[in-house]
Amino acid sequence: MNLIFVGPPGAGKGTIAAKIAAELSIPHISTGDIFRQNIREQTELGKKVKQILDSGELVPDELTIDLVSDRLSHSDAQAGWILDGFPRTETQAEALDEFARVDEVVFFRIDDEEVVKRLGGRRVHPASGRTYHIEFDPPKEPGFDDETGEPLIRREDDEPDAIRHRLEVYRKETAPVVDYYQRDGRLVEVDAAQPIEGVFEDLRAIVEEVQNR
Ligand code: ADP
Ligand code: ADP
Repeated sequence: MNLIFVGPPGAGKGTIAAKIAAELSIPHISTGDIFRQNIREQTELGKKVKQILDSGELVPDELTIDLVSDRLSHSDAQAGWILDGFPRTETQAEALDEFARVDEVVFFRIDDEEVVKRLGGRRVHPASGRTYHIEFDPPKEPGFDDETGEPLIRREDDEPDAIRHRLEVYRKETAPVVDYYQRDGRLVEVDAAQPIEGVFEDLRAIVEEVQNR
């Protein structure tokens, strides 16, 4: 099953994608996680994109499209995948339709006020991408990853100025992606303002519907 999660930063796409992907035994492919891993490992790609990520701008389409096209060709992606954070522009959505089949696009609807609360309290385990929230989804021990015990960090782009800018970029570049999929009937919407369990249950129902087609 090939699924896309789209919605503003902080809507909870990554949190839910990790859970659904584990249930379905398919990869959760987050372009943001791939870029951050390259930055940590100081690869050529990482050096190219570090400034862009820190500022909340988008990485150029061509580079991002090549990265995803390559990732979807790996053997672990042949039985399905969840794409989280891609496509983020209409150009990326059109390109994806050239090299992959998309079964369903899930739009995470949420307002800006809630997004700001979520991103402000987000903490991540850099090596795995595991994500927590200091209030809404806290780790067992504050400041430390449940599985490895390693320290959690706050992302550079989760500072207030970068959050504001990312929301602007979302409205300008990514909102058209939602329209793109709506036009041909591939879009389904979830109320992403619910607690995590509620969003997860809604996603499970969507997955079941797609499986029964
Ligand atoms: P969020 O938590 O805001 O959804 P992500 O982890 O998905 O953030 O993305 C972090 C950053 O990585 C983005 O602000 C952008 O700089 C870059 N990025 C991720 N996916 C894409 C994409 N599809 N196209 C361009 N840039 C991207
Ligand atoms: P995205 O991938 O869309 O940027 P994340 O999955 O990283 O969003 O979630 C953003 C923050 O909000 C994280 O700190 C996460 O723990 C928290 N969060 C995710 N889903 C919910 C939810 N349904 N209710 C409350 N907090 C949530």
